[in-house]
Amino acid sequence: MIIQAKDVTGDRREEADVVIIGSGAGGGTMANELTAAGLKVVILEEGKYQTREDFHQREDKAFSRIYGGRGLESSEDTSVNVLYGKLVGGTTVLYWGDSYRTPPERLAKWGFDEATMAPFFDHVEKLVNVQLPGDRLVNENNRLLVEGARKLGWKVEKIPGARTEACTNSGHCLQGCSYDAKQSQLVTNIPRALSRGAVLYADCRARKLIVENGRAVGVEATIGSAKLTVRSKAVVLSAGGVGTPRFLLSAGQANSSGMVGKNLYLNPGPMTFSAFPEAVRMWHGVPATWAVEEFRKTVYDPQGRYVRGGYLLMANNLQPGTAGCVIPGFGAKHRAWMARFEHLAGTYAILDDENPGELTVDAAGKPAFNYTVRGNDVLKCRDFLANSARLMLAAGAEEVLIPDSRFTTIRKASEVDAKIAEADLSPGSMVFGGPHPLGTCRMGEDAKTSVVDMRCESHDLKGLFVADGSIFPTSVGVDPSLSIMAFAARTATYVVASLT
Ligand SMILES: Cc1cc2nc3c(=O)[nH]c(=O)nc-3n(C[C@H](O)[C@H](O)[C@H](O)COP(=O)(O)OP(=O)(O)OC[C@H]3O[C@@H](n4cnc5c(N)ncnc54)[C@H](O)[C@@H]3O)c2cc1C
Repeated sequence: MIIQAKDVTGDRREEADVVIIGSGAGGGTMANELTAAGLKVVILEEGKYQTREDFHQREDKAFSRIYGGRGLESSEDTSVNVLYGKLVGGTTVLYWGDSYRTPPERLAKWGFDEATMAPFFDHVEKLVNVQLPGDRLVNENNRLLVEGARKLGWKVEKIPGARTEACTNSGHCLQGCSYDAKQSQLVTNIPRALSRGAVLYADCRARKLIVENGRAVGVEATIGSAKLTVRSKAVVLSAGGVGTPRFLLSAGQANSSGMVGKNLYLNPGPMTFSAFPEAVRMWHGVPATWAVEEFRKTVYDPQGRYVRGGYLLMANNLQPGTAGCVIPGFGAKHRAWMARFEHLAGTYAILDDENPGELTVDAAGKPAFNYTVRGNDVLKCRDFLANSARLMLAAGAEEVLIPDSRFTTIRKASEVDAKIAEADLSPGSMVFGGPHPLGTCRMGEDAKTSVVDMRCESHDLKGLFVADGSIFPTSVGVDPSLSIMAFAARTATYVVASLT
């Protein structure tokens, strides 16, 4: 059953085994697992319940309807556009569907191994139908990426994706899938949980934990102008890398370590645009079907200094409005590049940031992102820009635009090093995407330096579990949704064990 603000006329009370805050990658997976184990679950979701009929493929309107902060939030230095979903299904409704397992070396860094996590990945891959894309889904932008990489002898691999054969290649993934082909939580785990009796409140913002004897035993929330009180045996916080610290900081709870909101990773994504003689239409089709894996791992010299890499290099998918914001400048120069938009191919980086920032909230609960791309992350960015230019020139680009404030353009491979060395990467001079807020309630064994333990239960409050992107000790190094789902499925086993 889904209850929306329009269905509620007065204050309400609910009882459940578990209340889950948030319905995205972590919350949706958790709801599926707990209801499959026979538990009574209530899900609270701040955003609206919208379905494919609501996803009208309009770039201008979608941001305000399905993104948190209307898609307009940025780091305090204005460089990174912080993007996350606010609707039933969470950010998975507007994600691209790229579904990577956590790289083994990253699992090891966090204290896990591949064999332990493999069953959880096997399981969640089935839940969202992860498979390699067929050739019909490879658009021109991705074809050029593969062509350039192969000419340069770089490792390039297909990207596993969460979608079905119903995919029509519309390219509107960022506005929600109008065909229910992308396997977001909205069309997979949420309906599964509802069919087993879960109750989902949409338009419902969780405000505070109910705590008794050092244990989380429910949540106070608001829905429209009404109050909702849910009493439960355990609480799962799955409000995302932004929502989870925002909730705990606003409520002033479960933060004896002072670590809530710290350790903010964003995978800041720089972009390039390359003009080709023929039409590319970067907005058309599945955004990313192939990725250059050559530079995924960061290479350091024996003294620990950065040498190269630290990013997945992918095709980009921007619609004209967003591209118009990322392509720099004003007037004739800007207009000239936008006039070529149909002929532009884009690249984008999942940049494995190693210098985190911090999320804070004001008295009204509005988040601020104190985050600056700095240190080795700037070097990674330059390396990505240089290799993107080499890649696209190898694929036949006439000109490559680095969207910095200097309007850096490159026409020959021989110019790449000098031009990239001069590109302006000072804060605010170039727009980065920030689609992966992570790490803000990190897990760890030490209660002084982490928010949740290795089973993702709060160090401070028994019965409070976290299952979303905030638990990771560092950036994941690849797109994070499948890692979030796999860890949520793992945490679900501890939630169930704690109640039985
Ligand atoms: C444009 C874009 C493209 C992306 N593409 C990919 C991709 O291809 N592959 C990939 O792996 N990842 C991708 N991601 C990232 C991925 O979607 C997210 O990392 C993932 O969905 C995060 O899961 P989560 O459970 O942490 O939070 P979310 O999925 O964001 O869910 C959190 C939910 O909690 C709700 N919430 C917050 N606060 C409250 C509150 N107080 N009360 C009630 N509800 C609350 C929010 O409204 C939201 O619905 C993309 C992200 C963006 C923005």
